[in-house]
Amino acid sequence: NRKFHPDNSVVEIAPGVAVGGKKLVVMAGPCSVESEEQIIDVAKHVQADGAAVLRGGAWKPRSSPYSFQGLKAEGLELLHKAHEATGLPVVTEITNPAHIDIFMDKCDCFQVGARNMQNFELLKELGQTRKPILLKRGFANTMEEFLMSAEYIMAGGNENVILCERGIRTYEKYTRNTLDISAVPVLKRMSHLPVIVDPSHAGGIYWMVEPLAKAAVAAGADGLMIEVHNDPAHALSDGAQSLTYDSFHHTMNALRAVAAAV
Ligand code: PEP
Ligand code: MN
Repeated sequence: NRKFHPDNSVVEIAPGVAVGGKKLVVMAGPCSVESEEQIIDVAKHVQADGAAVLRGGAWKPRSSPYSFQGLKAEGLELLHKAHEATGLPVVTEITNPAHIDIFMDKCDCFQVGARNMQNFELLKELGQTRKPILLKRGFANTMEEFLMSAEYIMAGGNENVILCERGIRTYEKYTRNTLDISAVPVLKRMSHLPVIVDPSHAGGIYWMVEPLAKAAVAAGADGLMIEVHNDPAHALSDGAQSLTYDSFHHTMNALRAVAAAV
């Protein structure tokens, strides 16, 4: 709560990678880890364009049980290999408190996905760790509910929480979700926590990622989470919204210009 924290919190994911500091932090990578070659190749490309954190899903909470569910423990190992190959810190989604032990040495930041924003048992267990938590807003949750979920983590003593707006469900079907850009100024006013935006899951289609990302930076976001794939047409999940290496390069240049102007 702002009342007790007049200053903005800064969450350090790795030495020199501080979310909520002066520098915009871009987390990029594929929706799902698919193979060793894929994750290392994507990591090298996004790093070359200025991403500071590698994202990639190992456990995938898919809407359909028949969709690709992720490489699970093997995916975690591959993320760790990509970290060793590039030095990039890793953020990956955890869906089950029983997995905390195996995630502990394989990632630098736990991601709690939109579908688990109110999985209070998961939040309480993560509050017992001291690792950064990237908490995504549920697609039908209010900002107050979102902040209460952050409180569940912080009440356990872990104050390293990063909030992520990733789009909410509205009547509009043209976009996958509706990016609630007002979440950025509202959350920053109500809370001291850093706020990032995921334009990929918000828009749901690749050509919307850059304009939404620019809007997020202009609105004051501390960072972005962007899906990038080596071959979006053949991605095992979320190919439609994944950027190619070329479009990520273009987007990063555009974001630097916006960040310099705000
Ligand atoms: C993801 O980041 O891959 C993801 C599943 O996001 P969300 O929880 O926002 O749907
Ligand atoms: Mn995804």
